[in-house]
Amino acid sequence: MFIINCPFCGERDQSEFKAGGEAHIERPKQPTELNDEEWAEYLFMRKNIKGIQFERWNHAHGCRKWFNMLRDTSNDEIKLIYKMGEKSPIE
Ligand SMILES: [Zn+2]
Repeated sequence: MFIINCPFCGERDQSEFKAGGEAHIERPKQPTELNDEEWAEYLFMRKNIKGIQFERWNHAHGCRKWFNMLRDTSNDEIKLIYKMGEKSPIE
């Protein structure tokens, strides 16, 4: 268990949240030009890094809003939280 600082509600227990996978997956600009393998890569393939990763999280049992998080998946240390639509502060 760990504490997550929702950008809308403040600090809450991690049990109130749901992880939504890797963040900043960009939809292809011309999806009809992709072959099946490229489309499947966009839809299904995620990095799932053991270490520092950008993720999407949802405050499912709170405000129900989505936000982004930079988290070390090996020890759940949260490096950064920022709202959806904001550009990643770290490229
Ligand atoms: Zn919230």
